Order: sequence, then C-alpha cells, then structure tokens
Amino acid sequence: MERNTLSGLFSRTKSLDGAGYGAYKKLKGTYSESGLRVSIDRVQADPYASPSKVRLILPMQAAGIPQQLIDDPVGRVAVADFLARRIQADRNRPKNVHIGDVGQQVLERTHVLVTPDRVEARLLVGLPAKGRRILGRQAAHLLADDLPALADDCLCHDRFAAADVEALADHVALLRDQEDLRTQLKPRKLVAFVGNGAILPRAAGDSDRPLTTAQATAFQSPESLTQTFVLPSGRTVTGMGIPEGLTVIVGGGYHGKSTLLRALERGIYPHIAGDGREWVISRADVASVRAEDGRPIIGDDISPFITNLPTGADTRHFTTTNASGSTSQAANVVEAHAAGACALLIDEDTSATNFMIRDRLMQRLVPNDKEPITPFVQRVRSLYDATSVSTVLIAGGSGAYLRLADTVIAMDAYRPSEVTARAHEIAGEVEDTGNTGGTEGGGEPAQNRFDHVTATRVLARGTLNSRKPPKPRGLSTISVDRSDIDLSAVGQLVAPSQTAAIAAALVWLTKNADGQTPLVDLVARLEHQIIEKGLAVLAPGRDHPGHLSRPRGAEILAAVNRYRDLKLA
Ligand code: ADP
Ligand code: MG
Repeated sequence: MERNTLSGLFSRTKSLDGAGYGAYKKLKGTYSESGLRVSIDRVQADPYASPSKVRLILPMQAAGIPQQLIDDPVGRVAVADFLARRIQADRNRPKNVHIGDVGQQVLERTHVLVTPDRVEARLLVGLPAKGRRILGRQAAHLLADDLPALADDCLCHDRFAAADVEALADHVALLRDQEDLRTQLKPRKLVAFVGNGAILPRAAGDSDRPLTTAQATAFQSPESLTQTFVLPSGRTVTGMGIPEGLTVIVGGGYHGKSTLLRALERGIYPHIAGDGREWVISRADVASVRAEDGRPIIGDDISPFITNLPTGADTRHFTTTNASGSTSQAANVVEAHAAGACALLIDEDTSATNFMIRDRLMQRLVPNDKEPITPFVQRVRSLYDATSVSTVLIAGGSGAYLRLADTVIAMDAYRPSEVTARAHEIAGEVEDTGNTGGTEGGGEPAQNRFDHVTATRVLARGTLNSRKPPKPRGLSTISVDRSDIDLSAVGQLVAPSQTAAIAAALVWLTKNADGQTPLVDLVARLEHQIIEKGLAVLAPGRDHPGHLSRPRGAEILAAVNRYRDLKLA
C-alpha cells in the first residue's frame, strides 16, 4: 500500500493508537487520492495547543467551478466566501474541524483559496486524544474519511444540488453588483448609499444579524435624495444617496440616527443576502471617528484642533500616553485624514462635546485664549472646501452645524426626510448662537490647515521589534510582548481574522520600516503587495496561512497608531 495515499494515511494514523500525543508529528505530509490532496502542514504539540493545520486541495478540474464565476477578483472572493460558508454550515463537519470566522460581511480571506487551477480549504483540526494519548482509530476516520467527504460535499461543484448551484451564482452576482455600485458613488459625488427596503437595525447590541422584518421599519429614501443605479446583473437599485460635503443627521432620541450611521460605517464591506444591509454601500475609504480617551498618541499633528495646552506641549508633534476625550478625537480625525479618508462619520453619542462645539456663554466665561480647543464646528467647512473630506454627522442635541450643512436629514420614527431648506431658514432666523459656526460659515476663506498634517510620520527602524510575534486576541486586542494594542474603539473592524491579519501586518511593517518611508506610504506598499500576491503575503513561506481576512490600510494604521511603544524616526 502506498504511504502517501489516503488509505495509507488511514492505516498510519490508526497504528498510532495509544501512542504519546507527540507521535502525531509523524503524519506531517501530503496524501492524495483521485485528485484530492490532504496536506497536513503543521501538527499541534499537545491536545491543548492551537489546532493542527490541514489543507484540502482540489484541482479546478475536479472542483468544477464554472469559469465565468471566477474570471475576476471579485468573483473569486465571492466563490471562496461561499465555499467557506458551505464548510462552516456542513452538517457532517466534525466539530473539531474549523474553517475560520465567517460573519455577515463578505471579505477577502485566506480560509478558502480559489485560483484558476485549484480550490484549497485551509482547516484547523483538533487531533483527538484521550488524556495525552492518541486516539488512533478516531483520528484515522477524521483525516482519511471525514475530511475527504467534506471536500466532496463542499468543494465539488458537480455535486451541488440545483438550488446550491443557483445560490452560488446569485452570491457572485450580488457581490459584483455591490462592488459595481461602490464604484459608481464617486462619479455621482456621493459618499454613501442606502437602498430602499434595507433593514438597518440589528437583532441585539451584541448581534450582527438583522432585526426581524416584523419588528423593523424598512428604509425608505426621501424623494429629494433618491438615486437609482443600474448594475451589471441587470438589477436596478433605488435608495438614498448621501452627497459629498457636510451632511447633518438630526432627529429625536431613539429615532434611528445612530443605527443609520453604524450601517454606513459597515457599508465599506459587502454584506450577504438576507443581511438587510446588502444595499448599504459606502465609499471604500469612509472613516468613522470617535472620542477615545485613554488612547496613546505618538507624534500626531493635532494643531488644527488643539493649541496652547497648559503644559506647553507642542501640538504639532503631540505625544501622550493618556489622551483626553477631545485630544483623542482630534488625533482620530487627523489620522483618518492622513490615511486618505474621503469622509468622516461622527456620532454625537461617541464624541467629546468640547471637541464638537463651544457656545457663546462658555466663550464669555472661559475666554478663547484660555481654551486650547478649536472645535470641529470651526474646521468642518474648510476640511471639505480645502481638502475634499466630507463629514456625515449626527447632531440631535446641538444646532451649531445646521447653518454649515450642505444636506440635513431628519430621522422620524426610522424614516428619513430631507430638511435642508428648513434648517437653513431656522439657522438664519436665530442669531448666531456663538457656536463659532459663524466664524467659518461667515465667509472666512477655506484654509487648508490639514496639509502639513498628512503623511509625514515615519516609523523608526525596528520600532515594532518584539521578542515574540504580535499575538491577536479576539477582535479588539493585539498583544506585542507585554503591551496590548487596544482596538475596541476602531469601529470598522468586523472580524477576528482581520485582527489576525493586522498582527501579521505589524511584522511586515517592522521588517520593511526603513526610517525614511512615511508610515502611510509603507502601508500603501503593503496593500499593493496584498493585491498583487494575495493575503498570504502576510504569512510568508507558510503553506497554510491560518485564517486571515483583509483589513483596510486604515485599520492597519489604526493599530500602529495605538501601539504604546511606537518610535518615530
Ligand atoms: P438614536 O441614535 O436616534 O437615538 P438609535 O439608532 O440608537 O437611535 O435607535 C434606537 C433604537 O431603535 C435601537 O434599539 C435600534 O435598534 C432601533 N431601531 C433603529 N432603527 C430601526 C428601524 N428602522 N426599525 C426598528 N427599530 C429600529
Ligand atoms: Mg444615537
């Protein structure tokens, strides 16, 4: 019997029964039969270590995915996503076999690889043990029977039921349409779009699934903001376009403002059919920005917002281990700007009031020369006029932004209407509340206070050098030696596998930091490599890259910016 066949794998594994767990290492290698290859790439050292890495590899001939579904990168991402979900949902998948996280978003991932010549599922497999002894018979069935069956059922297109064949084609068409719509936003001068009929609210605060349609009010665009898109599949989608410039969302408490903004935040990702937000599409570089007191700031130029601190600190190169609400939000704005954001999304619920506004009474009590903060209301106009960065802002509690807004949307019982004219009228009637909105609203020439802010920070060589590689922990933490990078305020991170990719990206950045290339350019270079060679460039030299999902450059930068021991050149 051939050693490297599946039956060979079966008998070898069975013969390990009762041996010490370490003997599993002998199984490392590749086993094939009738086209399928089972590659055991890494074997865990003991039953409690992270699971073993196994790939199921099928030549495209055997997988039989129709060529027209995979002849473009978007199609390949959609097919890979579909196959990963299929493995995840397969009833015969042994419970110690994992394909990685798949949530409501369709992401470029390493879980399943689809190339013109093959399909490859990257699994994590817990090899069975009793105490520290090998359960040989069980492992033999798992590796030589269950995994090949999983490949047959989930990866072979010829074996799909008719409904699944259709579901796959629909999945690809949906993703192509969503991505096409995204490319149509900029030419129409829109930053985001919300389709009619969308279900924006989620089932619960800790759930990313939609609220049931019985409980939710479906989205309906006001007439004046309605846009219609014709998409590659022939489908047309109609809904609300959010224009470039300053858009203010107003409305009473509990009327759905934050829910709308959160949907826009997530609109940078495509969503699966049935999510309710399939047609909530934002431009790819929209950035949500919030206050985040306690975060570190290393060498940011926050001078557009903060000057003359009581400590005398230079706010053009500002560093602190413990930012206040307003300085943290200022840093988040300038970092988003440097990362190339086309629009900022800001919710009053998560903002520092003194960063957003400052009224006349307060200006009388605390004179301007004693106040280090220039509130956002004074910069929001020039941010757009001089640097083309739009803002979508929720302001239920302050009218300061109304006179500056290009578009005002009122939410009333989850239904939007456009009230721009009325808002301008009211803002004109009332004397300037002194919110200093008047200063820039009143004709001061748009000045680019952000040009010197951008793109000048450079990583010092070896700044992220750590003894152990950065370790991702769930969605919101990366441990670098003993220091934790806290990503819990980074609102557009959606999958732990993205956090894992960011941890790997930190290693890449450390290797490539030359003490000269600006940080944003270095991250742009990494993104280029990912586009050219795939996400697996983040796990170089490994056959099985583990489970990584593609983060944006902005989220990679967000992690670097929150590393407490960061050194700049
Ligand atoms: P606001 O920011 O205006 O105070 P939220 O967006 O926080 O309001 O929404 C308040 C509540 O209403 C939340 O529980 C949210 O899930 C729910 N909600 C939001 N939009 C809808 C909708 N379209 N249909 C039903 N419930 C909704
Ligand atoms: Mg709210």
